Amino acid sequence: MIEIAIFVLFHPQALTVKPAPGHILAVNGVSLAGDRAVGVRREGREVDWFMNRQTHTGQAVRFAGEMLVSVPGKIQRRYRGKLTVTEAGGELRAVLTADVEDAVAAVTEAESAPEAGLEARKAQAVIARSWLLANRRRHGAYDYCDTTHCQVWKDPRVSPAAVATRGMVVTYQGKVFAPAYSGSCGGRTKTAEEVGWSPEPYPYFPVDCEVCRREEPAWERTLPELPRRVGEEAARLLLGRKFGWDTLPSNNYSLTGNVARGRGRGHGVGFCQRGAAGLPEAFDQILRRYLPNTRVEAFPGLR
Ligand SMILES: [Zn+2]
Ligand SMILES: [Zn+2]
Repeated sequence: MIEIAIFVLFHPQALTVKPAPGHILAVNGVSLAGDRAVGVRREGREVDWFMNRQTHTGQAVRFAGEMLVSVPGKIQRRYRGKLTVTEAGGELRAVLTADVEDAVAAVTEAESAPEAGLEARKAQAVIARSWLLANRRRHGAYDYCDTTHCQVWKDPRVSPAAVATRGMVVTYQGKVFAPAYSGSCGGRTKTAEEVGWSPEPYPYFPVDCEVCRREEPAWERTLPELPRRVGEEAARLLLGRKFGWDTLPSNNYSLTGNVARGRGRGHGVGFCQRGAAGLPEAFDQILRRYLPNTRVEAFPGLR
């Protein structure tokens, strides 16, 4: 199980929770069926919830089941698991306790390249699961948020790739870690050191990527400002933040004056989505190709 804070960007003062169609929802242990909704509001340091024509007040209200949760007038999403709503910092904090595999499915389908086939998606699922299990307690009080900061949850998704790789993660020297991935390496992947990252917990290795070298179009950009170091990811992000994300599309380029010529999209470290989508290999072979010296294995303690 993992804990995800939902609707973080909305700083909610009120939430509405109701059973998903055809489902029964437990509210602090009491069953609620049909389309009856529970309104939750912040009340000082506590929460108020209104159900069955009665208002209750307490430290927390807990929902369990499959539910539709909304910030009234703004957004509604469907969730499955346990949802605990408390007061925190003058707003409602809603934390979903979800099955890791549900989160893996959601992340896999959201992050996979559109052109990815089943084996490439399975590799992406193993990466998503590794990330989710290696970065727990990222927020201290809970594991993940639902903003772009963590990119854990958009909508529940059906993912055959997640199902087919259930419980599998990537390990290096016996430890699960969160493998980096990017859109296209441009022909050869970068090491952590080359882009200015820490070599811990995994150093990354340069891997020839024939698919990208053959198929990824070359690009040329006249830079408004020189990167502080050629090929450094932080330097690329700095330019992106200042002048737009297409200023320097990747770290695989050479510089002549202020003209950058290169190939690829993204930081170019680790798993290459473009390359993986073009390979006729099984997911574990694809993973070991882009992440040399790692293993693909079942995460201990996961069903
Ligand atoms: Zn976060
Ligand atoms: Zn590639």
